[in-house]
Amino acid sequence: MGASNDLSQNFMDIRTLFFAMAVANLAFALGIFLYVKGQHSVHHSISIWGKSRFLAGIGIVILALRGVLLPVPMAIVVANGMVWTAIYLSVIAFKSCLDRPMPKLPSTVTVFFGLAVAWIVLLLLDIPENMRIVLFSVYFSMALVIISKDLAYGWRDNSILQKFLAAFTPFFVVVTVLRGAEALWHPDEGIFSRNSLQVTAMFIGFVETISTSFGFLLLAKEKTDRELEMQAGTDHLTGLPNRRSFYSMAEKVFSLEKRTGQALSLLLLDIDHFKKINDRFGHDTGDRVLEVFADILRSATRQCDFLVRLGGEEFGVLMPDTPPGAAGDAAERIRLAVQSCEISAGDEPVRFTVSIGVYGEDAVSTPDMDHYFHCADHALYRAKTKGRNRVEAEKEA
Ligand code: GH3
Ligand code: MG
Ligand code: MG
Repeated sequence: MGASNDLSQNFMDIRTLFFAMAVANLAFALGIFLYVKGQHSVHHSISIWGKSRFLAGIGIVILALRGVLLPVPMAIVVANGMVWTAIYLSVIAFKSCLDRPMPKLPSTVTVFFGLAVAWIVLLLLDIPENMRIVLFSVYFSMALVIISKDLAYGWRDNSILQKFLAAFTPFFVVVTVLRGAEALWHPDEGIFSRNSLQVTAMFIGFVETISTSFGFLLLAKEKTDRELEMQAGTDHLTGLPNRRSFYSMAEKVFSLEKRTGQALSLLLLDIDHFKKINDRFGHDTGDRVLEVFADILRSATRQCDFLVRLGGEEFGVLMPDTPPGAAGDAAERIRLAVQSCEISAGDEPVRFTVSIGVYGEDAVSTPDMDHYFHCADHALYRAKTKGRNRVEAEKEA
């Protein structure tokens, strides 16, 4: 026993740290359980994280009390099965929270039993305790590397919190690798070692447990908030802005264009005989038509135009800096693109058409945006009564 070992005896022993870590994990699991229970819009990943903390907490208790709660070999198998599954789940939770692609994954129970069997094999092979620490370090550091990689992905779009976590996590990788390396060179190293590097690494592991949990929950909260914000202003089916978010935007564009004396045009678009499409091909095909129509609108308009699904099969396009003539051309392009588009419902091709009303001013002079809607709607009505699949423009008064 060297001088470094004496240091740790005055510090904290690993068993105490195990209990602290178990308590921290179980507290997080309980907190998450209570939080998830009372809310509807919680991100799925938070539940996964809660499950992961619960398994880690129980696993660590079993490990710390091995020989007390369960016979030693059984405790090692069950506890490692749980802790390793917990680590697996924490990787999944981060992936899910960050929208990273995931292949079809085995269930938690399957993973647990797989790992438990692996641990039975390891014990049957009589793998020494220091090598078990090495194995754990390799597994855990790999998990941390995946998490940091997922956090760092798409660097420019990330939130400050995400960048912070991405920069923070590699530090724990280094500590985990050091712990494994120390155990590799010391064959007599055991799990309740008093070696100061092992104790310090375990202490940092405790800090990691707490900081990563807080970091993860903040990240998931940030994500939920952003999604809710998006949903409130976005139409679910087409991904276009909905009426509410469009109106406030349109008012701003209108007053800016009016103040600067710019041109502004509005298209109102209504799919023809849409009810018949629903009746004949079913509601799902109707929905598909709406999605395809939204895609046509996106590709036929400019980046700076404002698209909206006003409701049902009615859409709008607000075109800044666009005189009515150019808006009419754009409307005709959209009409032709829709006319030549074909989607399939089973074996049958589905075709549809659109009627478009256009209203615009070369230099905005009307008192308000309502006038635009009123005139474009009038033109749309005319397009319908004149036989549909056409563009009609309302002349400036
Ligand atoms: P017109 O040519 O005069 O515009 O006739 P239309 O059938 O398109 O117009 P109408 O307003 O009579 O019917 C619109 C239909 O759109 C009725 C409604 O059930 C359907 N609808 C509204 N919202 C949705 C939706 O989100 N999905 C689907 N599939 N159908 C919808
Ligand atoms: Mg309609
Ligand atoms: Mg219609």
